[in-house]
Amino acid sequence: MHIQANYCLRHHNTFHVPAHARYFIEIDKQSDIRALRSDPILAALPWYVIGDGSNLLLTHDLEGVVVRNKFRQLRIMKEDDTTLWISVGGGMEWDELVHWSVKHGLWGLENLAAIPGTVGAAPVQNIGAYGAEVQDAITRIQALDLFTGERHEFRNADCHFGYRTSIFKTELKGQFILHRITFRLRKLAHGHANLMYEPLREALASIPEHDLTPQHVYDAVARLRATRLPDPAKEGNAGSFFQNPVVDADYFHTLQQKWPDIPHHQLVTGEYKLSAAWLIEQCGWKGKCLPKTDACVSKKHALVLVNRGQATGEQILELAQQIQTDVMHTFGIHLEPEVIIL
Ligand SMILES: Cc1cc2nc3c(=O)[nH]c(=O)nc-3n(C[C@H](O)[C@H](O)[C@H](O)COP(=O)(O)OP(=O)(O)OC[C@H]3O[C@@H](n4cnc5c(N)ncnc54)[C@H](O)[C@@H]3O)c2cc1C
Repeated sequence: MHIQANYCLRHHNTFHVPAHARYFIEIDKQSDIRALRSDPILAALPWYVIGDGSNLLLTHDLEGVVVRNKFRQLRIMKEDDTTLWISVGGGMEWDELVHWSVKHGLWGLENLAAIPGTVGAAPVQNIGAYGAEVQDAITRIQALDLFTGERHEFRNADCHFGYRTSIFKTELKGQFILHRITFRLRKLAHGHANLMYEPLREALASIPEHDLTPQHVYDAVARLRATRLPDPAKEGNAGSFFQNPVVDADYFHTLQQKWPDIPHHQLVTGEYKLSAAWLIEQCGWKGKCLPKTDACVSKKHALVLVNRGQATGEQILELAQQIQTDVMHTFGIHLEPEVIIL
Protein backbone atom coordinates (compact mmCIF):
# COMPACT_ATOMS: atom_id res chain seq x y z
CA MET A 1 0.00 0.00 0.00
CA HIS A 2 1.48 3.31 -1.10
CA ILE A 3 0.35 6.56 0.55
CA GLN A 4 0.80 9.60 -1.68
CA ALA A 5 0.50 13.11 -0.24
CA ASN A 6 -0.79 16.24 -2.02
CA TYR A 7 -1.76 14.09 -4.98
CA CYS A 8 -3.19 15.61 -8.17
CA LEU A 9 -6.49 13.98 -9.18
CA ARG A 10 -6.59 15.39 -12.73
CA HIS A 11 -6.11 11.89 -14.15
CA HIS A 12 -8.62 10.39 -11.71
CA ASN A 13 -11.66 12.36 -12.89
CA THR A 14 -13.07 12.40 -16.41
CA PHE A 15 -13.77 16.16 -16.27
CA HIS A 16 -9.96 16.41 -15.94
CA VAL A 17 -10.19 19.20 -13.38
CA PRO A 18 -7.03 19.75 -11.34
CA ALA A 19 -8.09 19.18 -7.71
CA HIS A 20 -5.66 17.70 -5.18
CA ALA A 21 -6.12 15.09 -2.46
CA ARG A 22 -4.28 15.54 0.83
CA TYR A 23 -3.62 11.77 0.74
CA PHE A 24 -4.31 9.26 -2.03
CA ILE A 25 -4.21 5.54 -1.30
CA GLU A 26 -5.06 2.46 -3.37
CA ILE A 27 -6.16 -0.55 -1.34
CA ASP A 28 -6.76 -4.14 -2.34
CA LYS A 29 -7.53 -6.09 0.82
CA GLN A 30 -9.67 -5.90 3.91
CA SER A 31 -6.75 -5.47 6.34
CA ASP A 32 -5.59 -2.29 4.52
CA ILE A 33 -8.43 -0.26 6.02
CA ARG A 34 -7.64 -1.35 9.58
CA ALA A 35 -3.96 -0.57 9.04
CA LEU A 36 -4.77 2.92 7.73
CA ARG A 37 -7.26 3.62 10.53
CA SER A 38 -4.59 2.83 13.11
CA ASP A 39 -2.72 5.94 11.95
CA PRO A 40 -4.12 8.83 14.05
CA ILE A 41 -3.48 11.45 11.35
CA LEU A 42 -5.30 9.50 8.65
CA ALA A 43 -8.06 8.38 11.02
CA ALA A 44 -8.88 11.99 11.97
CA LEU A 45 -9.44 13.13 8.37
CA PRO A 46 -12.56 12.70 6.23
CA TRP A 47 -12.34 9.77 3.79
CA TYR A 48 -13.58 9.72 0.20
CA VAL A 49 -13.89 6.70 -2.06
CA ILE A 50 -13.32 7.12 -5.77
CA GLY A 51 -13.16 4.83 -8.76
CA ASP A 52 -12.29 6.37 -12.13
CA GLY A 53 -13.96 9.69 -11.28
CA SER A 54 -16.36 9.33 -14.24
CA ASN A 55 -19.34 10.42 -12.17
CA LEU A 56 -17.62 13.08 -10.08
CA LEU A 57 -17.26 16.83 -10.20
CA LEU A 58 -14.40 18.00 -7.98
CA THR A 59 -15.00 21.64 -7.07
CA HIS A 60 -12.14 22.00 -4.58
CA ASP A 61 -9.15 20.17 -3.13
CA LEU A 62 -10.07 17.21 -0.94
CA GLU A 63 -8.58 17.83 2.49
CA GLY A 64 -8.76 14.20 3.46
CA VAL A 65 -7.94 10.65 2.49
CA VAL A 66 -8.96 9.56 -1.00
CA VAL A 67 -9.22 5.78 -1.21
CA ARG A 68 -9.43 3.74 -4.39
CA ASN A 69 -10.17 0.03 -4.61
CA LYS A 70 -7.70 -1.77 -6.85
CA PHE A 71 -8.91 -5.31 -6.12
CA ARG A 72 -9.59 -6.67 -9.62
CA GLN A 73 -10.01 -10.44 -9.35
CA LEU A 74 -12.77 -12.23 -11.32
CA ARG A 75 -13.83 -15.61 -9.93
CA ILE A 76 -16.47 -18.09 -11.08
CA MET A 77 -18.49 -18.95 -7.97
CA LYS A 78 -21.10 -21.37 -9.22
CA GLU A 79 -22.49 -22.76 -12.43
CA ASP A 80 -25.49 -24.80 -13.56
CA ASP A 81 -26.94 -25.66 -16.98
CA THR A 82 -28.42 -22.21 -17.51
CA THR A 83 -26.55 -19.77 -15.31
CA LEU A 84 -23.11 -18.66 -14.18
CA TRP A 85 -22.38 -16.70 -11.00
CA ILE A 86 -19.20 -14.61 -10.94
CA SER A 87 -17.66 -12.51 -8.22
CA VAL A 88 -15.68 -9.51 -9.40
CA GLY A 89 -13.29 -7.17 -7.59
CA GLY A 90 -14.55 -3.59 -7.38
CA GLY A 91 -11.34 -2.25 -8.92
CA MET A 92 -11.87 -3.91 -12.30
CA GLU A 93 -12.89 -1.61 -15.15
CA TRP A 94 -16.61 -1.98 -15.79
CA ASP A 95 -16.26 -2.30 -19.55
CA GLU A 96 -13.55 -4.94 -19.16
CA LEU A 97 -16.09 -7.04 -17.24
CA VAL A 98 -18.82 -6.50 -19.86
CA HIS A 99 -16.35 -7.42 -22.57
CA TRP A 100 -15.39 -10.61 -20.69
CA SER A 101 -19.07 -11.57 -20.30
CA VAL A 102 -19.98 -11.18 -23.97
CA LYS A 103 -16.80 -12.96 -25.06
CA HIS A 104 -18.00 -15.92 -22.99
CA GLY A 105 -21.47 -15.75 -24.56
CA LEU A 106 -23.18 -14.66 -21.35
CA TRP A 107 -26.31 -12.51 -21.22
CA GLY A 108 -26.96 -9.84 -18.63
CA LEU A 109 -24.49 -6.97 -18.98
CA GLU A 110 -24.37 -6.36 -22.75
CA ASN A 111 -26.76 -3.36 -22.77
CA LEU A 112 -24.40 -1.65 -20.31
CA ALA A 113 -21.50 -1.75 -22.78
CA ALA A 114 -18.91 1.01 -22.89
CA ILE A 115 -19.93 2.79 -19.68
CA PRO A 116 -16.80 4.29 -18.10
CA GLY A 117 -15.86 3.56 -14.49
CA THR A 118 -15.17 0.66 -12.18
CA VAL A 119 -17.16 -2.40 -11.14
CA GLY A 120 -17.24 -1.15 -7.52
CA ALA A 121 -18.95 2.10 -8.49
CA ALA A 122 -21.57 0.51 -10.75
CA PRO A 123 -24.04 -0.41 -7.97
CA VAL A 124 -23.63 2.97 -6.21
CA GLN A 125 -25.79 4.78 -8.74
CA ASN A 126 -27.25 1.57 -10.22
CA ILE A 127 -25.81 2.34 -13.64
CA GLY A 128 -28.29 2.06 -16.45
CA ALA A 129 -28.51 2.43 -20.20
CA TYR A 130 -30.41 1.10 -23.22
CA GLY A 131 -33.22 -0.44 -21.18
CA ALA A 132 -31.06 -2.22 -18.55
CA GLU A 133 -29.83 -1.48 -15.04
CA VAL A 134 -27.00 -3.20 -13.22
CA GLN A 135 -29.35 -4.17 -10.38
CA ASP A 136 -30.88 -6.78 -12.71
CA ALA A 137 -27.65 -8.82 -12.68
CA ILE A 138 -26.38 -8.28 -9.12
CA THR A 139 -27.06 -10.95 -6.49
CA ARG A 140 -24.70 -9.89 -3.67
CA ILE A 141 -22.24 -7.20 -2.71
CA GLN A 142 -19.39 -7.58 -0.28
CA ALA A 143 -18.47 -4.19 1.19
CA LEU A 144 -15.85 -3.09 3.70
CA ASP A 145 -16.74 -0.67 6.46
CA LEU A 146 -14.56 2.41 5.95
CA PHE A 147 -14.29 3.02 9.69
CA THR A 148 -13.62 -0.49 11.02
CA GLY A 149 -12.58 -2.49 7.95
CA GLU A 150 -15.28 -5.06 8.81
CA ARG A 151 -16.80 -7.02 5.97
CA HIS A 152 -20.56 -6.75 5.28
CA GLU A 153 -22.70 -8.72 2.84
CA PHE A 154 -25.61 -7.02 1.09
CA ARG A 155 -28.15 -9.06 -0.85
CA ASN A 156 -29.77 -7.41 -3.87
CA ALA A 157 -32.89 -6.46 -1.90
CA ASP A 158 -30.76 -4.80 0.82
CA CYS A 159 -29.30 -2.35 -1.68
CA HIS A 160 -32.54 -0.33 -2.21
CA PHE A 161 -31.79 0.10 -5.88
CA GLY A 162 -33.75 2.73 -7.79
CA TYR A 163 -33.33 5.03 -10.78
CA ARG A 164 -29.64 6.05 -10.57
CA THR A 165 -29.54 5.36 -6.86
CA SER A 166 -28.92 2.76 -4.15
CA ILE A 167 -28.41 2.60 -0.40
CA PHE A 168 -24.71 3.39 -1.01
CA LYS A 169 -25.65 6.79 -2.42
CA THR A 170 -28.26 7.54 0.28
CA GLU A 171 -28.53 6.02 3.80
CA LEU A 172 -25.05 4.46 3.77
CA LYS A 173 -23.30 7.18 1.77
CA GLY A 174 -19.60 7.38 2.66
CA GLN A 175 -19.68 4.35 4.96
CA PHE A 176 -18.49 1.50 2.75
CA ILE A 177 -16.11 0.66 -0.02
CA LEU A 178 -17.61 -1.94 -2.35
CA HIS A 179 -15.04 -4.69 -2.54
CA ARG A 180 -16.54 -7.56 -4.57
CA ILE A 181 -19.77 -7.81 -6.51
CA THR A 182 -21.51 -11.07 -7.46
CA PHE A 183 -23.35 -11.16 -10.79
CA ARG A 184 -25.74 -13.77 -12.17
CA LEU A 185 -25.42 -14.20 -15.93
CA ARG A 186 -27.43 -16.37 -18.33
CA LYS A 187 -25.74 -18.82 -20.66
CA LEU A 188 -26.12 -18.23 -24.40
CA ALA A 189 -28.92 -20.74 -25.07
CA HIS A 190 -30.84 -19.72 -21.94
CA GLY A 191 -31.09 -15.98 -22.34
CA HIS A 192 -32.16 -13.48 -24.95
CA ALA A 193 -31.49 -9.94 -26.05
CA ASN A 194 -33.16 -7.11 -24.16
CA LEU A 195 -34.41 -4.90 -26.99
CA MET A 196 -36.82 -2.78 -24.99
CA TYR A 197 -35.02 0.38 -26.03
CA GLU A 198 -36.24 1.32 -29.51
CA PRO A 199 -33.05 2.73 -31.07
CA LEU A 200 -31.25 -0.48 -30.07
CA ARG A 201 -34.02 -2.62 -31.58
CA GLU A 202 -33.73 -0.61 -34.80
CA ALA A 203 -29.93 -0.92 -34.84
CA LEU A 204 -30.23 -4.72 -34.67
CA ALA A 205 -33.24 -5.11 -36.95
CA SER A 206 -31.18 -6.75 -39.72
CA ILE A 207 -30.35 -9.77 -37.53
CA PRO A 208 -33.11 -12.33 -36.78
CA GLU A 209 -33.80 -12.21 -33.04
CA HIS A 210 -32.96 -15.91 -32.45
CA ASP A 211 -29.50 -15.38 -34.04
CA LEU A 212 -28.56 -12.47 -31.78
CA THR A 213 -25.67 -12.94 -29.37
CA PRO A 214 -24.53 -10.76 -26.46
CA GLN A 215 -21.64 -9.64 -28.67
CA HIS A 216 -24.06 -8.26 -31.31
CA VAL A 217 -25.81 -6.23 -28.63
CA TYR A 218 -22.52 -5.04 -27.13
CA ASP A 219 -21.28 -3.84 -30.53
CA ALA A 220 -24.54 -2.07 -31.37
CA VAL A 221 -24.67 -0.30 -27.99
CA ALA A 222 -21.02 0.74 -28.24
CA ARG A 223 -21.63 2.17 -31.73
CA LEU A 224 -24.76 4.07 -30.64
CA ARG A 225 -22.96 5.50 -27.62
CA ALA A 226 -19.99 6.68 -29.68
CA THR A 227 -22.25 8.69 -31.99
CA ARG A 228 -24.21 10.29 -29.14
CA LEU A 229 -21.76 11.06 -26.37
CA PRO A 230 -18.58 13.12 -26.35
CA ASP A 231 -15.43 11.10 -25.58
CA PRO A 232 -14.03 12.18 -22.17
CA ALA A 233 -10.49 11.63 -23.49
CA LYS A 234 -11.09 14.46 -25.98
CA GLU A 235 -13.54 16.64 -24.06
CA GLY A 236 -13.69 16.14 -20.28
CA ASN A 237 -17.15 15.12 -19.06
CA ALA A 238 -18.99 12.81 -16.68
CA GLY A 239 -21.80 11.61 -18.96
CA SER A 240 -25.31 12.82 -18.10
CA PHE A 241 -24.94 15.65 -15.63
CA PHE A 242 -28.59 15.66 -14.48
CA GLN A 243 -31.19 12.97 -13.91
CA ASN A 244 -34.30 12.89 -16.07
CA PRO A 245 -37.02 14.53 -13.93
CA VAL A 246 -40.27 12.79 -13.01
CA VAL A 247 -43.51 14.79 -12.69
CA ASP A 248 -47.07 13.84 -11.75
CA ALA A 249 -49.74 13.41 -14.42
CA ASP A 250 -51.50 16.74 -13.73
CA TYR A 251 -48.31 18.73 -14.07
CA PHE A 252 -47.32 16.81 -17.18
CA HIS A 253 -50.62 17.69 -18.88
CA THR A 254 -50.17 21.35 -17.97
CA LEU A 255 -46.71 21.29 -19.58
CA GLN A 256 -48.01 19.42 -22.62
CA GLN A 257 -50.58 22.13 -23.33
CA LYS A 258 -47.81 24.69 -23.64
CA TRP A 259 -45.21 22.38 -25.26
CA PRO A 260 -47.15 19.76 -27.27
CA ASP A 261 -43.87 18.11 -28.45
CA ILE A 262 -42.45 17.57 -24.97
CA PRO A 263 -40.77 14.12 -24.97
CA HIS A 264 -42.13 11.89 -22.21
CA HIS A 265 -42.36 8.35 -20.97
CA GLN A 266 -45.19 7.22 -18.70
CA LEU A 267 -44.10 5.18 -15.68
CA VAL A 268 -46.06 2.35 -14.06
CA THR A 269 -46.81 4.74 -11.19
CA GLY A 270 -48.75 6.99 -13.60
CA GLU A 271 -46.07 9.68 -13.34
CA TYR A 272 -44.14 10.95 -16.36
CA LYS A 273 -40.39 10.89 -16.91
CA LEU A 274 -39.21 13.83 -19.01
CA SER A 275 -36.04 14.34 -21.00
CA ALA A 276 -33.64 16.63 -19.11
CA ALA A 277 -31.67 17.07 -22.36
CA TRP A 278 -34.77 18.43 -24.13
CA LEU A 279 -35.56 20.85 -21.29
CA ILE A 280 -31.97 22.16 -21.36
CA GLU A 281 -32.01 22.49 -25.14
CA GLN A 282 -35.28 24.48 -25.04
CA CYS A 283 -33.56 26.93 -22.68
CA GLY A 284 -30.94 27.52 -25.39
CA TRP A 285 -27.99 25.94 -23.60
CA LYS A 286 -26.90 23.25 -26.07
CA GLY A 287 -23.35 24.02 -27.26
CA LYS A 288 -23.15 27.18 -25.10
CA CYS A 289 -20.44 28.02 -22.55
CA LEU A 290 -20.25 29.93 -19.31
CA PRO A 291 -18.85 33.28 -20.60
CA LYS A 292 -15.03 33.44 -20.81
CA THR A 293 -14.58 29.85 -19.63
CA ASP A 294 -14.13 26.34 -21.03
CA ALA A 295 -17.15 25.10 -19.04
CA CYS A 296 -19.70 24.29 -21.73
CA VAL A 297 -22.73 22.23 -22.68
CA SER A 298 -21.81 19.60 -25.26
CA LYS A 299 -22.74 20.31 -28.87
CA LYS A 300 -23.57 16.60 -29.24
CA HIS A 301 -25.84 16.13 -26.22
CA ALA A 302 -27.43 18.84 -24.07
CA LEU A 303 -27.34 16.68 -20.93
CA VAL A 304 -23.55 16.47 -20.96
CA LEU A 305 -21.48 19.32 -19.53
CA VAL A 306 -17.93 19.40 -20.85
CA ASN A 307 -14.56 20.86 -20.01
CA ARG A 308 -13.15 22.16 -23.28
CA GLY A 309 -9.69 22.53 -21.74
CA GLN A 310 -9.03 24.68 -18.72
CA ALA A 311 -12.39 24.79 -16.90
CA THR A 312 -12.31 24.43 -13.14
CA GLY A 313 -14.76 22.36 -11.14
CA GLU A 314 -16.24 25.57 -9.71
CA GLN A 315 -16.93 26.92 -13.21
CA ILE A 316 -18.64 23.70 -14.26
CA LEU A 317 -20.74 23.87 -11.11
CA GLU A 318 -21.68 27.47 -11.86
CA LEU A 319 -22.75 26.45 -15.36
CA ALA A 320 -24.85 23.62 -13.89
CA GLN A 321 -26.51 26.07 -11.46
CA GLN A 322 -27.35 28.53 -14.25
CA ILE A 323 -28.95 25.70 -16.23
CA GLN A 324 -30.95 24.62 -13.16
CA THR A 325 -32.20 28.20 -12.69
CA ASP A 326 -33.25 28.55 -16.34
CA VAL A 327 -35.05 25.20 -16.40
CA MET A 328 -36.82 26.11 -13.16
CA HIS A 329 -37.95 29.50 -14.55
CA THR A 330 -39.10 28.08 -17.87
CA PHE A 331 -40.66 24.76 -16.84
CA GLY A 332 -40.99 24.93 -13.03
CA ILE A 333 -38.87 21.77 -12.79
CA HIS A 334 -35.86 21.18 -10.56
CA LEU A 335 -33.06 19.26 -12.28
CA GLU A 336 -31.31 16.97 -9.81
CA PRO A 337 -27.62 16.33 -10.57
CA GLU A 338 -26.72 12.73 -11.36
CA VAL A 339 -23.02 13.53 -10.95
CA ILE A 340 -21.63 13.50 -7.39
CA ILE A 341 -20.41 17.01 -6.56
CA LEU A 342 -17.54 17.22 -4.07
C1 LIG B 1 -18.94 9.42 -21.22
C2 LIG B 1 -19.69 8.90 -20.02
C3 LIG B 1 -20.83 8.15 -20.20
C4 LIG B 1 -21.54 7.65 -19.10
N1 LIG B 1 -22.65 6.91 -19.34
C5 LIG B 1 -23.36 6.41 -18.29
C6 LIG B 1 -24.53 5.62 -18.52
O1 LIG B 1 -24.89 5.34 -19.65
N2 LIG B 1 -25.20 5.18 -17.45
C7 LIG B 1 -24.80 5.45 -16.17
O2 LIG B 1 -25.48 4.99 -15.24
N3 LIG B 1 -23.69 6.18 -15.93
C8 LIG B 1 -22.97 6.67 -16.95
N4 LIG B 1 -21.85 7.44 -16.73
C9 LIG B 1 -21.46 7.73 -15.34
C10 LIG B 1 -20.35 6.79 -14.79
O3 LIG B 1 -19.72 6.12 -15.82
C11 LIG B 1 -20.90 5.78 -13.79
O4 LIG B 1 -21.60 6.40 -12.75
C12 LIG B 1 -19.78 4.92 -13.19
O5 LIG B 1 -20.35 3.85 -12.46
C13 LIG B 1 -18.83 5.70 -12.29
O6 LIG B 1 -17.73 4.85 -11.98
P1 LIG B 1 -16.38 5.43 -11.38
O7 LIG B 1 -15.52 4.25 -11.03
O8 LIG B 1 -15.80 6.40 -12.30
O9 LIG B 1 -16.89 6.10 -10.03
P2 LIG B 1 -16.53 7.56 -9.47
O10 LIG B 1 -17.01 8.60 -10.42
O11 LIG B 1 -15.11 7.61 -9.07
O12 LIG B 1 -17.43 7.59 -8.17
C14 LIG B 1 -18.83 7.74 -8.28
C15 LIG B 1 -19.46 7.51 -6.90
O13 LIG B 1 -19.28 6.15 -6.54
C16 LIG B 1 -18.55 6.05 -5.31
N5 LIG B 1 -17.64 4.90 -5.47
C17 LIG B 1 -16.76 4.67 -6.47
N6 LIG B 1 -16.15 3.48 -6.29
C18 LIG B 1 -16.67 2.96 -5.15
C19 LIG B 1 -16.44 1.75 -4.41
N7 LIG B 1 -15.58 0.80 -4.81
N8 LIG B 1 -17.14 1.58 -3.26
C20 LIG B 1 -18.02 2.50 -2.79
N9 LIG B 1 -18.27 3.65 -3.46
C21 LIG B 1 -17.62 3.87 -4.61
C22 LIG B 1 -17.83 7.38 -5.15
O14 LIG B 1 -17.63 7.67 -3.79
C23 LIG B 1 -18.81 8.34 -5.80
O15 LIG B 1 -19.83 8.65 -4.86
C24 LIG B 1 -21.10 7.93 -17.79
C25 LIG B 1 -19.93 8.68 -17.61
C26 LIG B 1 -19.23 9.16 -18.71
C27 LIG B 1 -17.97 9.93 -18.50
